[in-house]
Amino acid sequence: MDSELLREQGHIMVDFIADYYKNLQDSPQDFPVLSQVQPGYLRDMLPDSAPDQPESLKELLDDVSKKIMPGITHWQSPSYFAYYASSTSVAGFLGEMLNAGLSVVGFTWLTSPAATELEIIVLDWLAKLLQLPEQFLSTGNGGGVIQGTGCEAVLVVVLAARDRILKKVGKTLLPRLVVYASDQTHSSFRKACLIGGIHEENIRLLKTDSSTNYGMPPESLEEAISHDLDKGFIPFFICATVGTTSSAAVDPLVPLGKIAKKYGIWMHVDAAYAGNACICPEYRKFIDGIENADSFNMNAHKWLFANQTCSPLWVKDRYSLIDALKTNPEYLEFKVSKKDAVVNYKDWQISLSRRFRSLKLWMVLRLYGSENLRNFIRDHVNLAKHFEDYVAQDPHFEVVTTRYFSLVCFRLVPVDGDEDKCNERNRELLAAVNSTGKIFISHTALSGKFILRFAVGAPLTEEKHVTEAWQIIQKHSSKFTRNGHY
Ligand code: PLP
Repeated sequence: MDSELLREQGHIMVDFIADYYKNLQDSPQDFPVLSQVQPGYLRDMLPDSAPDQPESLKELLDDVSKKIMPGITHWQSPSYFAYYASSTSVAGFLGEMLNAGLSVVGFTWLTSPAATELEIIVLDWLAKLLQLPEQFLSTGNGGGVIQGTGCEAVLVVVLAARDRILKKVGKTLLPRLVVYASDQTHSSFRKACLIGGIHEENIRLLKTDSSTNYGMPPESLEEAISHDLDKGFIPFFICATVGTTSSAAVDPLVPLGKIAKKYGIWMHVDAAYAGNACICPEYRKFIDGIENADSFNMNAHKWLFANQTCSPLWVKDRYSLIDALKTNPEYLEFKVSKKDAVVNYKDWQISLSRRFRSLKLWMVLRLYGSENLRNFIRDHVNLAKHFEDYVAQDPHFEVVTTRYFSLVCFRLVPVDGDEDKCNERNRELLAAVNSTGKIFISHTALSGKFILRFAVGAPLTEEKHVTEAWQIIQKHSSKFTRNGHY
């Protein structure tokens, strides 16, 4: 690592990336939002093996422009409206840069005390912004840890809860353990349960529908629990979601939490996307009831401008996590004066190695301040509302679910009640607008209906991009809507 070479080439790289962001805005025609390449496109463009001799950075960046960029789907484009955003910021980028530069591996306190201690402090800060109950703070038995992703977060808490209950009832009863979530819960929950040895047939995904805007009905949960208890099963885990992947639905935490408490069940709250909005007082109500949850997760890389990846998880009882995940090989042992005061984050996660992710979260919180972060989120919600108004004013379209955050679920309406044809048309419309390369929207299915999703969250998006997106959607829908007939 030659520091002068780093200085020289680092400047070139920063210029390259800064130009990328500028060009995304100034020359959108050069950056189809959804990559238009075909599978395997890159194989023919690159040599079969790595070079024997060094090449120049210039040659490499030329290849990035000519060969890599065509295969990039531009998540940072202002006209990106698919899935959920992967929000970046200058502060998040600089944090990643510093992290890459220091490249420490803070698996125990000793291996970089600052990496561990900053993570504890920053997650306490963020917990306070979210007004999480005090039990989630590091000052009690709880605390936060930055997981790589939401999938890792749900896995570690399923393992913690599983071991907690097995300690009580005995390991042989693993096949009797049952878990609950709604049919809208992210697929990572099922995966986590299967990795945790929970039998597939013991994963209860409770049915939702439009009557609760796709939130989990608490009555179904209680009914399922008592039915399972009658049959000798052991309910031990509920995964509630605030902001589901499909439609940003919200499970009602207050009644769900009461049920969890009544039956002594671990409740995890997956707020991967919408949890970020809960730093705003007006959205905090969506996590009312969190006091009865055992763990809470959100993805700061989705909507808190923290660049990929950064998934804070808080638990009320850190010892459950540590009991399930700790390892003590001799080569990691160390002596420290206040041993009990030391956190070893290797025991809060699956892997040993870990990145110094709290640096970028710290930088995002400090360089913007929470008031600006709240306003960025509010701007996105207002843009989504703007799009929703367009949809609502066009009789050929309908808004399908009640919008709480920055995701609008909508579709072309059926004609003469023909839902099959309607699904087909919406599918065609999606393909048509995405093939323009001018915008990227995604889809889902709700109650058998093919639904279009318009998710605002890319940091460069402005009102003009939303308006342009709507015009593109309208233009491509005209072939289906002429004279009101399909
Ligand atoms: N939970 C919800 C509600 C999500 O929407 C997502 C991803 O979109 C996840 C979990 C998974 O998050 P990650 O991709 O960080 O694993």
